[in-house]
Amino acid sequence: MKRKKLMKNLLINLVEKNKKYTEEGKLASYIPALLKADKEALGLCVVDIKNNEEYWAGDSDVKFTIQSISKVVSLIIALNDNGRENVFKKVNVEPTGMGFNSIVNLEIRNQDRPYNPMINAGAIVTTSLIFGENEDHKLQRILNFLRRATNNPSIDINKEIYESEKATGDRNRSLAYFMKSSNILEGNVEEVLDLYFKQCSIEATAKDMARFAAVIANDGIAPWSDEILISREVCRIVKTIMVTCGMYDASGEFAVHVGVPAKSGVGGGIIATVPKRYGIGIYGPALDSKGNSIGGIHILKDLSEELELSIF
Ligand code: GLU
Repeated sequence: MKRKKLMKNLLINLVEKNKKYTEEGKLASYIPALLKADKEALGLCVVDIKNNEEYWAGDSDVKFTIQSISKVVSLIIALNDNGRENVFKKVNVEPTGMGFNSIVNLEIRNQDRPYNPMINAGAIVTTSLIFGENEDHKLQRILNFLRRATNNPSIDINKEIYESEKATGDRNRSLAYFMKSSNILEGNVEEVLDLYFKQCSIEATAKDMARFAAVIANDGIAPWSDEILISREVCRIVKTIMVTCGMYDASGEFAVHVGVPAKSGVGGGIIATVPKRYGIGIYGPALDSKGNSIGGIHILKDLSEELELSIF
């Protein structure tokens, strides 16, 4: 009982302490509908894997679009469907040191694969590798996977954000057509992009994301049912890529200060996975200059110190 109260109080204090940073951050604006978020929102949820206990504080029930966190989902499904050799023939696993939507990388590598599955080009490729009879079937597979991995059957798309992203997604269109021209991307480019925009527009809360992170942290086993949702091997690969590439080009700094596999999105979400211990979901839409939730990063630094989370 005492332990539960301590944890609950710790989370409440961390939200209060770090809320001030949201003033310094900015909402993502290149997808216009994201500007409707409440810039001061900040909240988190922690799932303790050992006893499947959930702790939360702040805006942990506010829905947001998962954006780049969906890159973890498409990587998991693509690896399951195709096996790792086939996936990594099309997308590499090296950090870029460049922005998440960088175009220059694709040509400099002389028509090579995109650098990794956590940047836009790489994620568009993993999305294109998802099996399905048609685009709707593929989307249903993505949604069903996430519904099981969050233990929330109502997970769905935010249509307004999807429309907004589709209407303004020319940068992603450029990346995709470039990759089609160099035979990295196969199939119908518009259909692949549509699926990619939809997966980015999936809505969830920090609580949902904490459960998803807990499954990954627990080597693919749902702590609430002991069901195997992801293979241990796929989890290992995904966590490794999250450590090296998950926090945009601040991944190295994050590894030093927090030290756990994590992935963020421009909607303000972060998932952090502490192997065998915790799944953490954060929401705070005010972003720092690298595109990570500014309040979220500060909370994770503090939490890592308090609970000694670093895996290194
Ligand atoms: N949907 C966004 C895009 O493709 C995701 C970017 C992100 O969260 O980093 O631009």
